[in-house]
Amino acid sequence: MKIAVYPGSFDPITLGHMDIIRRSAKVFDKLVVAVLCNVEKKGLFPIEERVAMISKLVEKYDNIEVVSFQGLLVDFMKTVDAQIIVKGLRVGLDFDYELQMSHMNRKLSDDRVETILMMASTEYSYISSSSVREILHFKGDIRSFVPEEIIQDVLKKSETMEG
Ligand code: ADP
Repeated sequence: MKIAVYPGSFDPITLGHMDIIRRSAKVFDKLVVAVLCNVEKKGLFPIEERVAMISKLVEKYDNIEVVSFQGLLVDFMKTVDAQIIVKGLRVGLDFDYELQMSHMNRKLSDDRVETILMMASTEYSYISSSSVREILHFKGDIRSFVPEEIIQDVLKKSETMEG
């Protein structure tokens, strides 16, 4: 069984992330969306909120699981028996970063883990969580960037967080 992990901060999840999730769930037998719990960077949305939002979006897929993790990705992958990392590629800058990370992860896993890069769809390739956070901060319209089903959750949460 080909089990892949799609790791990220998903702070918050965007249409671009969802596109990669949907497409990779067709390629692999099972996809684990792994939400990185970064101890040094708190982020805008608490981890449990991010997991809850993504879970709501993937409810209808029976081969997608959503979990949070801490520590090294290769160690987490052992716990879910996965050997493939899926990453999304938007622009050249992503490639430079992912190339280095993929070598690191392969070395760290004694050649057990492979990284597969999936090209972002053109219509979403300019979307990033950081720009969504910035738009939220200035009370702008996020409807073109975030899945419709969670817009209310995102708006409610960001209002309470910004006081
Ligand atoms: P961001 O870079 O938006 O803050 P993450 O750190 O959560 O997001 O990214 C997780 C993965 O999703 C990375 O591989 C990243 O390149 C990919 N990704 C992010 N946004 C998009 C998008 N719009 N289209 C395709 N892949 C994306």
